[in-house]
Amino acid sequence: MMSRDQVIRVNVQSEEQIRLLQALETEEEWKVDFWLHPVSTELPVDIRVPRSSLSPVKEYLAAHSIPFTIMTENLQELLDQEKVEMEENQMKERSTRSFNFGAYHSLDTIYSWMDTLVAQYPNLVTKQDIGRSYENRPMYVLKFSTGGYKRPAVWIDTGIHAREWVSPATGVWTANKIATDYGSDASLTSLLNTMDIYLLILANPDGYVYTHTSDRMWRKTRSHIPGYTCRGVDPNRNWDAGFGGPGASSYPCSESYRGPSAHSEIEVKNVVNLIESHGNFKAFISVHSYSQLLMYPYGYICSSVPHQAELVRHNTSVMSFPLFSDQASGGSIDWSYNLGIKYSFAFELRDTGRYGFILPADQIIPTASETWLALKHIMEYVRDHPY
Ligand SMILES: [Zn+2]
Repeated sequence: MMSRDQVIRVNVQSEEQIRLLQALETEEEWKVDFWLHPVSTELPVDIRVPRSSLSPVKEYLAAHSIPFTIMTENLQELLDQEKVEMEENQMKERSTRSFNFGAYHSLDTIYSWMDTLVAQYPNLVTKQDIGRSYENRPMYVLKFSTGGYKRPAVWIDTGIHAREWVSPATGVWTANKIATDYGSDASLTSLLNTMDIYLLILANPDGYVYTHTSDRMWRKTRSHIPGYTCRGVDPNRNWDAGFGGPGASSYPCSESYRGPSAHSEIEVKNVVNLIESHGNFKAFISVHSYSQLLMYPYGYICSSVPHQAELVRHNTSVMSFPLFSDQASGGSIDWSYNLGIKYSFAFELRDTGRYGFILPADQIIPTASETWLALKHIMEYVRDHPY
């Protein structure tokens, strides 16, 4: 892919501008890719524009007096650099036979690392196969448990959107953190003595592989849509919560295509089956990037959730993540909240827009470390407020 795409940023100033940007988003010919969607005058909008559409898009913005800045002059440079760094790291890991938590990895490498972790901590960590993806890849959940039967549990998933690489990288670091800190971190130890943690690191395995082999900017699943050449469904618009409502598209070529029906995506269905059959999840946390926010339900109705005050109170000590209401229908945390999981959150990790989805690998560990503080805070809160 030699695209030389640009990413442009609009700091939205009015509802009218939001409307005009939403119109641009549904325009099909220019093939613009919204990295951050127009939802609020409080949040920026980032748009990846193919080289061939730069003139018409910039003219459209100018014609409507919408100011913008260039966030990324040449996206291809960032992609090339990321690729070089990954290859260098692979060689280093092979020669030193070590795993670098500050690097991005392929699905195969992450899956074999999971086996290493399970082998290293057999009394704490097990690997559960929760089903196959559309392209028949196994989906593995790491379960951290010190015993008991269906103890109150915390769900964490990373990587549901394929291109948000820092999310599964944070998942890997977090899994290792939980395993190594159990027994030495008193608070985490007490937590794991009463609760279980389930961590799905690659929630969209087909999409993740596709970002490594074919298109780094891929977001969706890889399922076939009958009658269309475009593939894939946005797996965070596919949940049975306000399905088909605002913030999701019915058009299969859209990046936010909701799918033919709720839970049409096997990757979503596998998670639904596990959560429902377990029946004792007390927190549900889904990890995305980027924009450094903590989101709460609902995305599909304007009224806030009954526990909003409690959720907001939380946030005072999860400082690096401003709290926002979720923004689209069919999202996983709306579904989990409706199921009765009161502490349902979605994280948007680093950055705030310098690199966007192409976050340099040297920011993985700082990102995971700051996220861990927030994750641990939420888990401690759940431990101390049983319901
Ligand atoms: Zn996402």
